[in-house]
Amino acid sequence: MLRCIDVSKEFGGLKALRDVNFTVKNGEITGLVGPNGSGKSTLLNVISGVYKPDSGKIEFLNEDISKLPPHQICYRGITKTSQTVQSFPDMTALQNVQLGALFGRKTETNPNDRATELLGFVGLDKDKFNVPAKKLNVIELRRVQLARALATSPKLLLLDELLTGLTPKESDEAIALVKCINKQGVTVLIVEHIMRVIMGLCDRVAVLHHGEKICEGKPREVCNDENVINVYLGKKFCFDEEL
Ligand code: ADP
Ligand code: MG
Repeated sequence: MLRCIDVSKEFGGLKALRDVNFTVKNGEITGLVGPNGSGKSTLLNVISGVYKPDSGKIEFLNEDISKLPPHQICYRGITKTSQTVQSFPDMTALQNVQLGALFGRKTETNPNDRATELLGFVGLDKDKFNVPAKKLNVIELRRVQLARALATSPKLLLLDELLTGLTPKESDEAIALVKCINKQGVTVLIVEHIMRVIMGLCDRVAVLHHGEKICEGKPREVCNDENVINVYLGKKFCFDEEL
């Protein structure tokens, strides 16, 4: 579905991505992991058009999207939730999600119904639906951001640290939510630090280190890779114990 070919991105001499080759298969949940500063968010930003790659190419459904602006990429079916939550602060939760429902459509039968349904689906309390985004806490805003992303009806959903700051119970709910989204036919690329989450959720995992992809494969293969253990995991991840 998505193919990154030799993608590089530099910020004033700092190589955030170096010749990254990476694919996402239709229907799967792909995990992206790596130490802080390894380029995970940059890769999602390059895929979604927030940044243009300095070199290399990104193909989505066999079309070169590397030079398209974010709204054109979104229109083609890629939507991202940001690591740093973003909202329209003076608009209510519902209005924020309605924007997603209206995006790219000349007529939307009922954006209000769609937004209401999605805010319920992501688990925002009903009494928060009409509260301005600036009055919501970061966890509530993350739910709004996810609902707004889903409202654009993505084919590929990019999730950047969606679960950060959640309690274990909330994390489990979020994992179930991502699985449910995927079962409804949305392909997912997720950046996440908690290995338990990645291992329980992902069909395949790629590991970035200093902007380079150092490993890619099934979760178990990646966990047993010496290089990944050395630079990222620190110790062997024990599947059966920690799941
Ligand atoms: P990760 O998400 O894996 O923690 P990032 O992709 O955010 O890593 O960052 C990779 C590197 O690129 C870091 O060294 C970071 O400081 C740098 N970087 C990211 N975005 C920018 C930017 N907009 N301007 C300058 N440097 C950036
Ligand atoms: Mg990041």
